[in-house]
Amino acid sequence: MKTLPAACLILLPAIAAAQSASVWPEGKRAAVSLTFDDARPSQLDAGLPLLEKLGVRATFFVSVNNLEKRLDGWKRAIGAGHEIGVHGYLHMQVHRVSPEDFRSEVERGKKLLEDLIGAPVAGHRAPAFSITPATRWALDILVDAGFQYDSSIYPIAGKRYGWPGFPLDIQRLTLADGRTIIEAPLSVAHLGGKALPCCGGGYLRLFPYAYTRWALRQIERRRPAIVYLHPYEFDTEAPPEDFAAATRRAPLKARLFNARLWLRRRSVWPKFRRLVGEHSFTSLGDIIRRTEEGGGIAVSPLPGTTMKS
Ligand SMILES: [Zn+2]
Repeated sequence: MKTLPAACLILLPAIAAAQSASVWPEGKRAAVSLTFDDARPSQLDAGLPLLEKLGVRATFFVSVNNLEKRLDGWKRAIGAGHEIGVHGYLHMQVHRVSPEDFRSEVERGKKLLEDLIGAPVAGHRAPAFSITPATRWALDILVDAGFQYDSSIYPIAGKRYGWPGFPLDIQRLTLADGRTIIEAPLSVAHLGGKALPCCGGGYLRLFPYAYTRWALRQIERRRPAIVYLHPYEFDTEAPPEDFAAATRRAPLKARLFNARLWLRRRSVWPKFRRLVGEHSFTSLGDIIRRTEEGGGIAVSPLPGTTMKS
């Protein structure tokens, strides 16, 4: 791995301080962004009313083919102050498609989403956090498509995803051809020098609440945290019929994986209510805007990039 120039190392503490010193909602020192994936109906039917009740604005990264099915509901969400970003058109994971297919997936998704909602779309999150060292080319395609920011990189050494050692702050990445894009990496906590995933999904669902609280407190001392929830975590009573039907047809390994997604499902919303009571939430776009206005977004080369002269 390339080492950072000495000047960058000197700047890093100042940048971290700037990220935590921005002006957050309700005068708090830091804020938590809440993001959801996939545009499932339960997000509209169960999730949005709860967010309204709690006064929380979130970012929804949507698979655009799903959004089309409930367009009026999603327009109401935008009217209520929530942010919509692209999560592909058909929810394709980046490492499973060619660069050409990824380009058509995000370009088609962004254009159609903007046509449907009648407003520009700034953000992108890849399905399954699938921008990794092997799929770094995806960032160039996101710039081509006109995205202002991406939030797909998980700075952990994960089994299915992750970019170990990726810088933790929201930053403006310079790509090989000199163009830039803001990256808001997923939040991680540290224990004994190891980066731990913590702020959503299975980690929120399966682990005791105390783990999430410890992690968020550690992260918020340095930078805003990004919490994410999956669409299915709203479906607490029984698997939705489309999910159940797909599971019945799936091979055993996939059926076991899907069964695991239901473990401790009913613990999610009580934990989320506690999180809202202890932290200030806003959309990811709002976090990025406030951080940028506070001078807290550094410009740095995409790790491992050789600049073209
Ligand atoms: Zn997804």
